[in-house]
Amino acid sequence: MSLIVQKYGGSSVADAESIKRVAKRIVETRKAGNEVVVAVSAMGDTTDELLDLAHEVAPIPAPREMDMLLSAGERISMALLALAIESLGHDARSFTGSQAGMITDAKHGSARIVDVTPVRLREALDEGAIVIVAGFQGFNRDTRDITTLGRGGSDTTAVALAAALDADICEIYTDVDGIFTADPRVVPKASKIDRITSEEMLELAANGAKVLYIRAVEYARRHGVTLHVRSSFNNNEGTIVYNPSETVDAATLVARARATSNTNTKTGSESAVEEPLIAGVATDLSEAKITVVGVPDIPGKAAQIFTLVAKTGANIDMIVQNVSAASTGRTDISFTLPKSEGQTVLTALRADQAEVGFLGLQYDDQIGKLALVGAGMRTNAGVSAKLFTALFEAGINIEMISTSEIRISVVTRADTINDALRVVHTAFGLDADDVAVVHGGTGR
Ligand code: ADP
Ligand code: ASP
Ligand code: MG
Repeated sequence: MSLIVQKYGGSSVADAESIKRVAKRIVETRKAGNEVVVAVSAMGDTTDELLDLAHEVAPIPAPREMDMLLSAGERISMALLALAIESLGHDARSFTGSQAGMITDAKHGSARIVDVTPVRLREALDEGAIVIVAGFQGFNRDTRDITTLGRGGSDTTAVALAAALDADICEIYTDVDGIFTADPRVVPKASKIDRITSEEMLELAANGAKVLYIRAVEYARRHGVTLHVRSSFNNNEGTIVYNPSETVDAATLVARARATSNTNTKTGSESAVEEPLIAGVATDLSEAKITVVGVPDIPGKAAQIFTLVAKTGANIDMIVQNVSAASTGRTDISFTLPKSEGQTVLTALRADQAEVGFLGLQYDDQIGKLALVGAGMRTNAGVSAKLFTALFEAGINIEMISTSEIRISVVTRADTINDALRVVHTAFGLDADDVAVVHGGTGR
């Protein structure tokens, strides 16, 4: 008997009809002789709507109460799903994050899972029940409070359950047919990827491809969980996210994942895994750029600035330092960070301006970031040249550049980012013949 963990995102359980459809799918998996554990998200855009409500009653809502509020979304969908399964004549039991043993640290709004003790889930499975777990939430032992795992956190719930229960596969059901070479809502000719390494997926997720939450990919990588991202609206094979290891080769991992997933598998794609040059392109509009103007070009200044930034807890992304002007002995340092952290960092820098000795600060929240990702870049020169040429030919100006072994990122004006995405996608030969299908969701 296989143990299958399935995660259904908000777009897959948006209304009563969808919940019934998903319930049928779950029952089919159970009837095929598998043990089934389901992690479920809040219905549709519930989380966003609850967030809007909170901001209507409180300008700066208290983090503890926010988690109480937001975790309620998943409690609704888990119970409805269990009810729908029971009415199909199968035993189903729903559990909140804390009942499921999702133990986290105490950081409200973006708690990390520190332990999973799925005792009650194992008992329910042993009694033959289908287990439904509320995604996105956990419990902290010290504060004894409910926590949430950050936006998109139900993906992490599913992966953590798969690891703790030693599942055969973790299936992530969503509103598109898998992971594409770009967001199919923006690039209709995006191509579906059959399989991708967790390393590449990590870069895509970190750079704005919200189809998988970055912490879920990290967790899967650390615990050796293979993921199958697929549509809840059909039975097509989706994308397998695998973690090549020394003990098991990629083709075996992929074959194993396919064996446990009930899919209409395409033929001919079983051959040995070869790395394409580019896996995909992601964009992110959630960052802003701060420029520290006129920094004295002497040792220790960057250290001072980024120590101040670090104290705020902000996550900085790209950093660029210009050459200093010989006449002034001063330089400019720019960096990007989440917009949500912009004001805090500006305040911290302003407070110590005299001590650091810079001349001023500029804040720009109209930037967009594009990241081109592919393991094949490691051994292939000329990728940057091709990227920059494509942007140049489209008349798009590059403001910042950063690279890793398998990624090149550029910052452009926010209003050119979608055009940038489409021209880069075409330039690297990623366009498909057909238009990608988006089955549901609002893209919010
Ligand atoms: P769910 O409700 O299932 O969690 P999400 O909205 O979180 O769904 O994620 C699915 C969405 O991610 C898709 O509808 C798509 O618009 C978006 N997306 C962004 N980048 C990609 C990509 N590279 N491949 C597939 N989908 C992507
Ligand atoms: N409901 C939460 C959100 O919208 C968690 C999730 O769906 O993964 O972010
Ligand atoms: Mg999601």
